[in-house]
Amino acid sequence: MSDRDGLIWYDGKLVPWREANTHVLTHSLHYGLAVFEGLRAYKTASGTAIFRLREHTERLFTSAHIYRMDMPWDRETLMEAQKEVVRVNNLESGYLRPIAFYGSEKMGISPRGLKVHVAIAAWPWGAYLGADGMEKGIRIRTSSYTRHHINATMPRAKLAATYANSILANMEAIDDGYDEALLLDVEGFVAEGAGENLLIVKDGVIYEPEIASALSGITRATIIALARDLGLTVISKRLTRDDIYIADEAFFTGTAAEVTPIRELDRRQIGAGRRGPITEKLQSLFFDVVNGKVPAHADWLTPVA
Ligand code: PMP
Repeated sequence: MSDRDGLIWYDGKLVPWREANTHVLTHSLHYGLAVFEGLRAYKTASGTAIFRLREHTERLFTSAHIYRMDMPWDRETLMEAQKEVVRVNNLESGYLRPIAFYGSEKMGISPRGLKVHVAIAAWPWGAYLGADGMEKGIRIRTSSYTRHHINATMPRAKLAATYANSILANMEAIDDGYDEALLLDVEGFVAEGAGENLLIVKDGVIYEPEIASALSGITRATIIALARDLGLTVISKRLTRDDIYIADEAFFTGTAAEVTPIRELDRRQIGAGRRGPITEKLQSLFFDVVNGKVPAHADWLTPVA
């Protein structure tokens, strides 16, 4: 990733990709306190646009607030910077990664007195869980690792350290021949995927796990809004892993994963074992929306030009 052409926005300047470096004694590298976002830019008929830029930027500030990290830039500046990064890298579509982290002025747990740095990179990135998975559905396993307790790393923050837990779960799933992991909360209820939210369909109704120990996903909120546009009922409730076994359909949502159908959990086929009809409808509507083909949701797209 570090050896490529392009420009990265780093503390207010556009820096050549290979020179966007930081010191090995960076506090965030040692203790994991960095907050970040993932966004996508899509090609639309009227040019490239970033999907839900305001909401993602707001969540970055929410994450910083939770960790009492003083953001050195305001929302408007960072929104402009994100647009600029897509533009200067000539991306028609791609993924954006803004990150705020502490500097290397001193070591020790307390971040007091450390400088906060902000960087924004963007690059082309296709289907996170594979193009095949988008059509046929993926196979997942329930992780043997538990999602962090709500009073551990703070689920409303998109925090780098949280992903150590995601990495354990994802490695285990991949090593066991699955595509992704499903994490349960400390009480055994469904939380989320390693980097995705989960939704299911049962008897025509959409259910999502209550957002307690899961990240409050923006794609999830998008899909819920679109489902309601279609007249579908969406219910948030605690879900058990066997609620997923007996669902008619299941899918992951996420900026990277977009809308990825799930065909199997723990060797139990879900529904017909392929992308279900409601998943397909929502997935197709989602891609129409992000590609600017749904005027009613044009406000979710911010043109970069
Ligand atoms: N949960 C986790 C742990 C994630 O990393 C992500 C991806 N950001 C999501 C859920 C989905 O969030 P969003 O739709 O906002 O990308």
